Amino acid sequence: MGQGTCVGNAGDVPRGRGYVRLAEAMRFDLITIFPEFFAGPLDHGILRRARETGLVEVHVQDLRVFTQDRHRSVDDRPFGGGEGMVLKPEPLFEAAEAVLGHNLGSAEQPAALGPKTVIVLMSAAGKLFRQETARRFAELDRLVFLCGRYEGVDERVADHLATEEISVGDYVLSGGELPAMLVIDAVTRLIPGALGNEASSKNESFSEGRHFEGPREGGVGLVATGDGSRIEARALLDFPHYTRPADFRGWKVPEVLIGGNHAEVANWRRAAALEKTQRNRPDLLLR
Ligand code: SAH
Repeated sequence: MGQGTCVGNAGDVPRGRGYVRLAEAMRFDLITIFPEFFAGPLDHGILRRARETGLVEVHVQDLRVFTQDRHRSVDDRPFGGGEGMVLKPEPLFEAAEAVLGHNLGSAEQPAALGPKTVIVLMSAAGKLFRQETARRFAELDRLVFLCGRYEGVDERVADHLATEEISVGDYVLSGGELPAMLVIDAVTRLIPGALGNEASSKNESFSEGRHFEGPREGGVGLVATGDGSRIEARALLDFPHYTRPADFRGWKVPEVLIGGNHAEVANWRRAAALEKTQRNRPDLLLR
C-alpha cells in the first residue's frame, strides 16, 4: 500500500503513516500487593505511547482482593521454620484465574493455558531474562506476571501455576514489581510500531545478528575483527554514540564519524563495538 493510502478498520488507531489494530494489543497483567507501584513506569516514553496507541494493554491486579480472612493476609510463616514470610498459593492462583477468566486446575485436574499465553513468576532463583527471552515474549498475546515479596512465594506457584520462572539478574531485590516492569519494557519496545524508528531495535546491544555473520546454532555468531580474522560471540554490545559538540572540553568526537565516509564509519563502529564488548563483557566473546 502506497504512502498515505492506508485505511484503518474499525478499532484501529492511526500511527505514523499506518494503522495499528487495537484488537491485536498485547496484554500484560501484573499481580501484586502494591498496585500503585506501576503508575510512574507505565506513564512515560515508549510504554506510555504503546498503551495510548493500543499496541499494549496493561492491567494491574491487587492480590489482596483474593484473600478470604479478616486481615486480608497474602503471606504466612514458612513450613520447616526460618526467617520471614512466604506468599500463600491460594490468592495467587485465584488472581491469575480471575484475570485469565478460567480455572487453573489442581493436582487431580491440571489445566491448560490458552495458546500464546504465559504466566511469569518473577524470582531471583529463576532463569535469567535475556534479550532472546524478550524476543520470544514479544511473539505472545498475553503475559501474566506474578510479583513476589518477602522471602518469596510458595513453591507450588512455581511448579503448578507459573509457566516461567524468571530472574532479571544475579542480585536480590525486595519485590517482583521492578523486575516485571523491566520485562514489560524490554518486550514492549520489540513490538512492531512501538519505537519511532524500527531500525533502533534491530541494531543495538544484544540484537540478533548485529555485526554478525550468523548467528549460528546456540545463538553464536562470527564477528569480523577488522584485521581479517573472525571471533565467535554470543552478542555484541552497541557501538559508542556521539552528538554535538564535536569538541567538548577538549574531548573530541572520533574523526572518522565526522568525515562522512559510510564504509569507514561502519568499520569503525564494528571495531568499537567489539572493543567495548571485550572491555565490559568479555563473557559474551567465546575465545
Ligand atoms: N528468598 C528469595 C528472595 C526473595 S526477594 C531468594 O533468596 O531467592 C522477594 C521477591 O522479589 C521474590 O519473590 C521475587 O519476586 C522478587 N525478586 C527479587 N530478586 C529478583 C530478581 N533478581 N529477579 C526477579 N525477581 C526478583
